[in-house]
Amino acid sequence: MKTIYTFGNGKAEGRADMRDLLGGKGANLAEMNLIGVPVPPGFTITTDVCKLYVSKGREAVVELIKDDVVKSIHHIESLTGNKFDDPDNPQLVSVRSGAPISMPGMMDTVLNLGINDAVAETLAKKSGNPRFAWDSYRRFVQMYGDVVLGMKPQNKTDIDPFEEIIDKVKAEKGVKLDIELDVDDLKKLTVLFKEAVKKNTGKEFPTSAWDQLWGAIYAVFDSWNNDRAILYRQMNQIPDEIGTAVNVQAMVYGNMGNTSATGVAFSRDAATGENIFNGEYLINAQGEDVVSGVRTPQQIMTEGSRRWAELQGIDEEERKAKYPSLEETMPECAAQLVEIQQRLENHYHDMQDMEFTIQNGKLWLLQTRNGKRTGAAMVKIAMDLLREGQIDEKTVIKRIEPTKLDELLHPVFDKAALDSARRVAKGLPASPGAASGQIVFFADDAEKWAQDGKQVIMVRLETSPEDLRGMTVAQGILTNRGGMTSHAAVVARGMGKCCVSGAGEIKVSYKNRTVEMGGKTYHEGDWISLNGSTGKVYDGQVKTVDVDMSGDFKAVMDLADKYTKMQVYTNADSPRDAKVARRFGAKGIGLCRTEHMFFEGDRIKAMREMIIAENVERRKAALAKLLPLQRGDFEGMFEAMSGYEVTIRLLDPPLHEFVPQDTASQEELAQELGVTLDHIKHVVASLKEVNPMLGHRGCRLGNTYPEITEMQTRAIIEAAINVQDKGFEVHPKIMIPLVGVYNEIKMQADIINRTAEAVFKERGKRVSYKIGTMIEIPRAALIADQIAKVADFFSFGTNDLTQMTFGYSRDDVGKFLNDYIKAGILKNDPFQILDQEGVGQLIKMAAQKGRATKPNINLGICGEHGGEPSSVKFCASLNFDYVSCSPYRVPIARIAAAQGALEN
Ligand code: PEP
Ligand code: MG
Repeated sequence: MKTIYTFGNGKAEGRADMRDLLGGKGANLAEMNLIGVPVPPGFTITTDVCKLYVSKGREAVVELIKDDVVKSIHHIESLTGNKFDDPDNPQLVSVRSGAPISMPGMMDTVLNLGINDAVAETLAKKSGNPRFAWDSYRRFVQMYGDVVLGMKPQNKTDIDPFEEIIDKVKAEKGVKLDIELDVDDLKKLTVLFKEAVKKNTGKEFPTSAWDQLWGAIYAVFDSWNNDRAILYRQMNQIPDEIGTAVNVQAMVYGNMGNTSATGVAFSRDAATGENIFNGEYLINAQGEDVVSGVRTPQQIMTEGSRRWAELQGIDEEERKAKYPSLEETMPECAAQLVEIQQRLENHYHDMQDMEFTIQNGKLWLLQTRNGKRTGAAMVKIAMDLLREGQIDEKTVIKRIEPTKLDELLHPVFDKAALDSARRVAKGLPASPGAASGQIVFFADDAEKWAQDGKQVIMVRLETSPEDLRGMTVAQGILTNRGGMTSHAAVVARGMGKCCVSGAGEIKVSYKNRTVEMGGKTYHEGDWISLNGSTGKVYDGQVKTVDVDMSGDFKAVMDLADKYTKMQVYTNADSPRDAKVARRFGAKGIGLCRTEHMFFEGDRIKAMREMIIAENVERRKAALAKLLPLQRGDFEGMFEAMSGYEVTIRLLDPPLHEFVPQDTASQEELAQELGVTLDHIKHVVASLKEVNPMLGHRGCRLGNTYPEITEMQTRAIIEAAINVQDKGFEVHPKIMIPLVGVYNEIKMQADIINRTAEAVFKERGKRVSYKIGTMIEIPRAALIADQIAKVADFFSFGTNDLTQMTFGYSRDDVGKFLNDYIKAGILKNDPFQILDQEGVGQLIKMAAQKGRATKPNINLGICGEHGGEPSSVKFCASLNFDYVSCSPYRVPIARIAAAQGALEN
């Protein structure tokens, strides 16, 4: 077993494609050597060794790699001419973690390793810079104490013992900044630090470079399983088994004086994607100084420096004097860096994020990796690389992170404004976007305020269908309760409206019309801002900017359509949503939840009349009032989706959701309908259910009140004929919800067919239509072969299917879900990411059984998972015909569908 791979001086035992074994950092350090980029020599201990460390323990690993570590240190010495653990000619090293998948900041790093009192003296002499030597030394003791000797406080509120000492020394001296400490102060710090180590650990600080090295190697391996790293892997679905590599590398110093520097650079602009090489550096500094904000970093390129100065309001003379570019201060190194970044980008065919150090005028690269970027930059860079001939079309599709497209679809916060905003709460990122508005607590207030031209944010404990009209006019919605498939979340996503749900820490008082968050009491009318993509809530009004969807965005979408095998439909309940979705590329409607239409305008009155009716005659009379309204709704949908399929689902939710719960509204209703309050109260009470999700809903309604199905079918068929008469192309699909028993769909289909035939006869013409069902009850999946005898199509309702397969209420899961994920019981929220292992098996089985009965049965999904990339790819792997998702997720699903096709 080869445990260590060395690199240096243009040679390397590893390569870029050995990421799994050498980690991202190790693989790229090797590769950079192979293409002639100057990299300090070093070696990488493989991830296999880490796996062994975890399973077999420390001794076994030391035994295995001891000799190789010594040999590899000699390899470094042979290239630098220095010696490890030698006070006269010391070689210092860095020890860094590096996993196959980047886990920024989660694991440990030790710099300046190999230093002790004698070495520090030599460094001071050789560099002619005693401050540099003693600063490196005290930084090392601190880092080693924290990372290797476990002195970093576990509790965030506890104070780091080293920071405490620094503060004391600075206070005694009467200074504020570290840089105001002189050589003697730094020497004193080092002594005090070592005393603190002795006091804390009971042992002397190790002076042998070898002891230090082994300690650091153990620490990196141990950090693979620290709480932070475990949590990060859980959150990002990184497997626990892959392990980290350890990179040991000769130190180079950017803080040796004025011919030394350190910096970070990007081969293209990570925010906009523009092909502009850019980055920041500092003269006489170590890496952490560039990011810590103590000193103002300078731009690498002069052009960038000028742009930066302009934004800062700094004139050219001052810029040149105080903040010159690297091109101006070290032109040769800058030119070399420009050449290298181009070489690296051409080599990796992607935008690179690089770290470099200049030691006494010599440039070294310490790291390169594919750079993180915004959604807009992701799209532009991929398309630019295609046009430049660096990558092909399929690679463009693979390069798109589907969920990042979201940023391109909604207005976004201005970055600078967001950076300076105060965060007051955090909830679930239920529906992306940026929203600012004045707080209101009730739907009717939202409507009133909006009519007055105000921007509002609805703050609720939770939302219900009664809040819909308020939600429609609000900029965003913030709720205290509810998960990713709660009413607020589902509806908001459908509307493309920003929503933060389940913000458990906020305290809402409807009575006082206040909400407490971030230590402040907000009243109705106060301004807040929501970031629906991160779930963060901010104080006040944060500025937003609009986004552009043409150009490269469109080009990427066209490529997706070229390679996909699955269509993307949308879940839409109104012609407005349907039009939005069509603009985003939806090729049909996969789910129209008719019940949402009942809350528009005066429909709710007729709906309530229908529910309150004490006999069939009165119910039919009420339904007759609803018929023209529904027909109008459907006409709008068919027109908006002309040429495409429109799937309309019959009434699904339990009826209690439509009746008022408070006495005042009940009284109003009693007067309107000319019945007694007692009667209303009686009906409301009779509709109450212990488990409404498992109660009188879905096709159970249509089978017990067939007149509802009759009315809805009539509305659909009449609308289809009317719209067809106007010259549009209509493809209606009628969908029966919550089927679990063959006779349920059979009875409903009979009613539908009978009603449709009656309409055809009346009108003297026909339209073709399809009948299908949701598969959202486990039993339906089990008997899908029977159901397929009646159904032309299956649409998997994975919200309910997940609810009933797990036995988790989709509205109450928030109570324990986070704890479950934290404890590792669940890897993620099954209502967001389809559980392929369990729920997926039911889907697979239903697809097989359905196809066994009807080989060409049309298959799709319309639960919230229809817009989640891994779930979309799962559907692609089963050769589904379509996925259906909320309008703003259509582009995401289009890319994921194309990626799924390419993966198959
Ligand atoms: C589902 O259950 O997945 C579904 C789409 O229906 P609803 O969310 O309306 O229950
Ligand atoms: Mg459902």
